[in-house]
Amino acid sequence: QAAYAAALQALDRKHLIHPHQNPTRTERNIFVRGKGSVVWDAADVPFIDGMAGGNWVVAVGHGRAELAEVAAAQAEKLEYFSLWREYSNEPAIRLAARLAELAPPGMSKVHFTSGGSDGTEAAIKIARRYHFERGDVGRTWLIGRHFGYHGTTFAGGAVSGMDDMHYGAGPVMPEVTKVSPPMVSHPEMFGGEDPTEFLVRELETEILRIGPEKIAAMIGEPVMGGGGVIVPPSDYWPRIRALLSRYGILLIADEVITGFGRTGEWFASAHYDPDIIVTAKGISSGYAPLGAVLMRDEIGETMVGNPEKFFFHGLTYSGHPVACALALVNLDIIEREHILGQAPKIQGWFTEGLDGIRDLPIVHDVRVHGAMVGIELVADPNTGEPMPFDRMVALIDDLRGKHRVLARDYGPTLVVGPPLVLEREQAAEISTAITDVLSRAI
Ligand code: PLP
Repeated sequence: QAAYAAALQALDRKHLIHPHQNPTRTERNIFVRGKGSVVWDAADVPFIDGMAGGNWVVAVGHGRAELAEVAAAQAEKLEYFSLWREYSNEPAIRLAARLAELAPPGMSKVHFTSGGSDGTEAAIKIARRYHFERGDVGRTWLIGRHFGYHGTTFAGGAVSGMDDMHYGAGPVMPEVTKVSPPMVSHPEMFGGEDPTEFLVRELETEILRIGPEKIAAMIGEPVMGGGGVIVPPSDYWPRIRALLSRYGILLIADEVITGFGRTGEWFASAHYDPDIIVTAKGISSGYAPLGAVLMRDEIGETMVGNPEKFFFHGLTYSGHPVACALALVNLDIIEREHILGQAPKIQGWFTEGLDGIRDLPIVHDVRVHGAMVGIELVADPNTGEPMPFDRMVALIDDLRGKHRVLARDYGPTLVVGPPLVLEREQAAEISTAITDVLSRAI
């Protein structure tokens, strides 16, 4: 077992350029199998998967034989057929119809992608094209938020709020502006004012500065994930929505993390009426790469309503039959096992389990929203200086090395986003591990 693990490490080092690779790390956790919320590495050591496959993906848990069987059956029947132009395939048709049932009313149009970044790209092009087809040809600007994360492709990266992503990659896509995130753990950002009041005014000022007639859409995650689990006040999105509507600007909800149950609903944005929803991750629980962009009927009809011009967008694997067949059964499992009901339970377990860390001097804020946990840390409670990267990595290493618990660092925030099938005892184990690691880090 040890030789096998070492051989894999060596091959990894030799050949792989990892996504988001940290150049100072040479050893990796190589996972070879999983069941529920537990994964085993190449040395056969079990870990509690506090990040649903490392990336908020595996909603229904690892190792579901039912999903493996569906994939095998679909691959044998028809492994692939394109969805382009005059072609279609049955799993994609059935999944689109299913998503239309689950989506907020009036959003029955679906475009499939391979994941979240290309979902953002598609949503941006769809928003611009919508205005263009209606004769509003000047609406090309996009509004994102600092700390937002919408992928690392050119447009997805441009509307994200993480500048390092563009390091050395040349000019960033133009005609994008950013506004502040609803980071209520930092009231100083709002100068003592009500955060929503401040943020709505800031957005309106920015809209007027650019010119509303030039703006296509604003994109935002209902709850920011990669920014460190930033949970907005309850009146934030309804008021942002109303403001955007006043200026004819579309709202794109990036539900790549929040969709399919992580906040206890199919879609966390349903109550504030977005125009376009980008999904990925939980749609297939990662059993195959898949994403879907849902849009209001009128927007979808506009995309295909110009007899002179194609909807010239889409990938070879848009609507891949095996991925769509898997997603259909994944959604069945979420429904059948009442997995939407898990998020509030998980929220309760972590709220209780992490209660003891709130008073630790390095803990600035503890945010628990559904199955999303963010613990914002400071290096120095007196100055509020955020916990630096190397210390965050050391904390994550400690959790993994000592407690066999997988979590993530996002800036100065320690994050947990487990499978939605996480059990009470596992939540307690994660909470105990975090409490231990943070108590010793003071
Ligand atoms: N949008 C959000 C909110 C995400 O969290 C992510 C990935 O973490 C993406 C988009 C990009 O998705 P992908 O990595 O599948 O391209």
